[in-house]
Formats: sequence, structure tokens, C-alpha cells
Amino acid sequence: MEANIKRAARIICQSTNTIALTGAGISVESGIPDFRSPGGLWERFNPIEYGTIEAFKANPERVWQMLEEVSHLLASARPNPAHTGLGRLQELGLLHTIITQNVDHLHHDGGATRVIEYHGNAKTLSCLWCNQRYNTDELEGQIPPKCSCGKILKPDVVFFGEPIPTKALKESYELASTCKALLVLGTSGEVAPANMLPQTAKSTGAAIIEVNVEPTVLTNYLTDIFLQGKASETVTKLVREVETIITESQQNS
Ligand code: NAD
Repeated sequence: MEANIKRAARIICQSTNTIALTGAGISVESGIPDFRSPGGLWERFNPIEYGTIEAFKANPERVWQMLEEVSHLLASARPNPAHTGLGRLQELGLLHTIITQNVDHLHHDGGATRVIEYHGNAKTLSCLWCNQRYNTDELEGQIPPKCSCGKILKPDVVFFGEPIPTKALKESYELASTCKALLVLGTSGEVAPANMLPQTAKSTGAAIIEVNVEPTVLTNYLTDIFLQGKASETVTKLVREVETIITESQQNS
């Protein structure tokens, strides 16, 4: 593990263009469980009945039973050392952009400045009927929150069956196809089309560094360096090693 941390840190320091793809696992230590693991949300709420745009349109009150639970988790979550560590890499000029599948805003809260929210963000809500948009703090915890037109609002997150916002889709593809190294953190690699980004990066020669508590569908066929462990501990070690390399190179120059 320690040797792999050193190899990964060297790649990050030498790469001219590193990006990151993050998933639900990076926020687990902030108190937001991932959806797929045992005990996760999808074990209790069938994604077909609660996670699709058709389900929301047909019965928004019912879908808000799940969203209420998610909203409470998001409201109390704070960035953990994995979020702040990636923010630090951006501050050092070593991480161009973070593409996140998460909707929790924790990368921004953790100091990151360039983040693409591939699946949207739960901080704003929109009316599917009149297109009016609200910030969560305008709605004072109303559940389900309603638009001034009387309809129930939908969080601006991508439900199953909805397209990825065009700008996020296009920019992420361009970044993945031009990066020299890709960090993949806390994602199962099972949600399309985000799970195509590691393949895109690999096909143009990028090094793939993966951080996860367990191997994923990506590990054996795409990953160059697999750092097995919790995101917070692993990113902390990685950033420490990067800072050591920087200090040593400054002392030697
Ligand atoms: P996923 O639930 O499919 O997979 C999570 C991955 O994280 C798993 O591979 C798991 O082994 C790993 N993991 C769990 N704890 C970890 C830890 N402490 N450190 C490192 N890795 C850890 O997540 P996904 O691939 O992101 O896809 C689920 C979808 O659900 C996403 O598209 C996302 O939009 C949404 N989601 C978002 C949030 C959030 O915003 N925080 C939370 C849950 C789900």
C-alpha cells in the first residue's frame, strides 16, 4: 500500500493534467451512506418506484418520502479529509477538475474550486410545470416543498431516466479524453454514463488511480494503481506524500 501511495503521488506530481471522478463513497465518512451497499437507500426504497423521473411525475408526494430522508442527511453533512484533500491538490495546482456524481456540494464546502456536478446539485429545486427555481433555504424545510404555482418541487438532481445536463456531459468527456491521470474515488463504476469516463481516459493513455474500500468493476480491467482503503485516510496519505515530493524537489533545486 505505502509503495502504491508513493507511485500514485509521483504520477500526480509529474502529470500535466490530472482530474478526479468521485462517487457516493467519498461522502460516506461525512455521514451520507452510499445507495448500493447493504443497508443503503436502494435496499429500502426501490429505485424504480422512487428514483425515476416517471415515478416523480406520477407521485411526487411518495418520492418525497425518500427525498426527505436524503435532505436530512445532506443538511447535516460536512466535508471529510477526502474532500479537503482534493481541494488541497487543486490549491497546489495538481488537480484540474473534480467530476462528481454526488449531489451533496461537499467538494465545494471542502475547498475545491473547479467541480463539475454530473448529476446536479440538491441545493436548488425546480418546478417541472412552470420552471420556477428555488434555493433550499428559501423553502424553510417545507416537505414536500411547493412552488408558488402549487405544484411539488423537484430537486435539481438527475433522476434515473433524465439526461445528464449537456454542459456537464460535454465538459466531462473533453476532460476525460485529454487528461494524463484520472483519480477515481468512491464510485462503484456501475452508474452510466459516468462510468464511461474512466474508459475514455484510459483509451487515450491516462493513468488510472482508484481509491475504494473494495475492488470494483473497474479495478481489474482499467485501474493501474488500486489504493484499497477509506477515502479519507487514503487521500490524506496521498496528499501528504505529494507535499513531501514538492518539499524535496524545492530543497534539491
Ligand atoms: P455507489 O453507491 O454505486 O458506490 C459507492 C462506492 O463507494 C462503492 O464502490 C463502495 O465500495 C465505495 N465506498 C463506500 N465507502 C467508501 C469509503 N469510505 N471510501 C472509499 N470508497 C467507499 O456510488 P456511485 O458510484 O457514486 O453511484 C451512486 C449514485 O447515487 C451516484 O450517481 C450519485 O448521484 C448518487 N448518490 C449520491 C450521494 C451523495 O451525493 N453523497 C450519495 C449516494 C448516492
